[in-house]
Amino acid sequence: MDCVFCKIVSGEIPSKKVYEDEQVIAFYDLEPQAPVHVLIVPKVHIESVLGVNETNSAVIAHVFEVAAKLAVELGVSQDGFRVVTNIGDNAGQTVKHIHFHLLGGRKLGREA
Ligand code: AMP
Ligand code: ZN
Repeated sequence: MDCVFCKIVSGEIPSKKVYEDEQVIAFYDLEPQAPVHVLIVPKVHIESVLGVNETNSAVIAHVFEVAAKLAVELGVSQDGFRVVTNIGDNAGQTVKHIHFHLLGGRKLGREA
């Protein structure tokens, strides 16, 4: 499948990895929008929130466990941070493999 995040999961495309376990991988965004900008990505290919169902939803809960751990490790848990997932064109989803942006290290505005 021609999916950039599946290729990062398989190691075919390199990434600046900050965390990995059997269910998820987390790496620095290529075009950071904040001093801390990490993507947390389930290894399984789910297109977006619209593809989450009874069978695969456990990994989404796990994403938030990892987000909490990384926020502490990356030093943004005290001041606050954001976890965001974009769905579809109006939200600006460019990679059609579900991912969660962890953003922090500055005051974030109401928009993105
Ligand atoms: P979204 O707009 O929510 O689909 O976000 C996709 C994000 O993936 C963007 O912030 C891109 O900068 C980031 N991105 C795309 N390709 C890579 C890559 N190879 N390594 C790291 N980040 C990437
Ligand atoms: Zn994929």
